[in-house]
Amino acid sequence: MENFASFGLPEQLIMALAHLKFDTPTPIQAQVIPHALEGRDILASAQTGTGKTAAFGIPLISKLILSPGGSALVVTPTRELAAQVSVMLKSLLGNQKTIKTALLIGGDAISKQLQQLRSNPRLIVGTPGRINDHLMRGSLKLHDAHFLVLDETDRMLDMGFAPQIDQILKYLPKKRQTLLLSATLPRNIVSLAEKFLNDPVRIAVIPTTQSTSNLKQEVLFVSEQDKHSHLDEQLAQRDGSIIVFVKTKMGAERMAKKLRMNDHSADAIHGDLSHNRRERVIKEFRDCKYRIMVATDIAARGLDISHVQHVINFDLPQCPEDYIHRIGRTARAGAEGSAICFISPADKRKWAAISHIINPGAKPEFDDRRSNGPKRKFGPRNGARRTSDSDFNFNSDRPKRSFNSSSRTDSGESRSYAGAGEKRSYAGSGEKRSFAGAGEKRSFAGSGEKRSFA
Ligand code: ADP
Ligand code: MG
Repeated sequence: MENFASFGLPEQLIMALAHLKFDTPTPIQAQVIPHALEGRDILASAQTGTGKTAAFGIPLISKLILSPGGSALVVTPTRELAAQVSVMLKSLLGNQKTIKTALLIGGDAISKQLQQLRSNPRLIVGTPGRINDHLMRGSLKLHDAHFLVLDETDRMLDMGFAPQIDQILKYLPKKRQTLLLSATLPRNIVSLAEKFLNDPVRIAVIPTTQSTSNLKQEVLFVSEQDKHSHLDEQLAQRDGSIIVFVKTKMGAERMAKKLRMNDHSADAIHGDLSHNRRERVIKEFRDCKYRIMVATDIAARGLDISHVQHVINFDLPQCPEDYIHRIGRTARAGAEGSAICFISPADKRKWAAISHIINPGAKPEFDDRRSNGPKRKFGPRNGARRTSDSDFNFNSDRPKRSFNSSSRTDSGESRSYAGAGEKRSYAGSGEKRSFAGAGEKRSFAGSGEKRSFA
């Protein structure tokens, strides 16, 4: 997608985009906008800062401009986000005066909001609590809200807004278009989507690592039982803050405890901790109160802690995309970082899937030799599309392929890897290989890719 004009948007919207100096759609925008303009429901995930607001905002505004009636509701977790979204949507509306807006957020004077609501706004942005207040009072009518956006949904659920969302949904017409956006797609979001979305197009933009020239990535082929001794070695060799990723909540707790017993300063973070506790663990890590954070995937996504120098993938992630999320925790904002990945014989299909994401052109590498094998490099990705999967529908009858993993993972995800499993044997003891920066610097132009999960 070259530019916004190719979406066939109304002229005034094109002008508003030019005014905003948005000339190229971001990957998530390139993928969401065409489907949303077609009227499809959408379940989209992409990291923070990838332009999700305009991804839903552009089709939303286009629909408001092109249809004579009907309204749109955007629900966001916090008042700050609601205000931010409202500003962006108003910019997209340009300087027209006919489409009125309302911002319904807690802590704001209700009288001002009542006044906005009396002007029959066609664009309503708000937080769940205040939207419900207005619904209860009867000051907000949503029977003609045919366009619904749930923004930053993972955060809304984290903040305990699920009941409020349920409540709001009761006031909306059954026949509507719903866009659900989220930085991450944990299981509860997928369930929510199954409940409220109709045959959604599922779009996930997988972030590549930031500038990877400053990220050193290594893999270590190890046997399952040797992982702990390799970890000890790695921890001893490395300076600075470290995140160790493990598979299960229990595993995270156990490992942090063990590390503390061995005189490391460590703490664990995972989905079983209370929200407050999680915040504290993160804050203390951020403040360098301890050095090693043992984490499961659910707890560690989106963490932006600049001093993380090393990521150790003790266990591989359950879904291959999480590998990218994980290594993105280090080498942030131009800092140096390194990531090492322990791969046991049982991991080979997973590693194949991850390798495919890192470098779709290359054959997955498994180690056949014991040692002194040539160091292989993962070349640049040549901008190739990583997967050929097309849109995912919940009703897809595509066969499911998954690992027979019996342990419950923290993310509780039921996504599966596309099995690229080849029969190859592993070297028993750990040898290390490194590969050069596998990602490449990404420009915003349609280099995003779409993956679907069975
Ligand atoms: P997200 O919701 O994914 O976290 P935002 O929608 O807040 O991301 O966008 C992040 C930033 O990117 C904002 O400052 C926004 O103005 C900018 N942005 C969004 N889309 C574009 C684009 N197509 N071109 C240039 N900047 C963009
Ligand atoms: Mg956002």
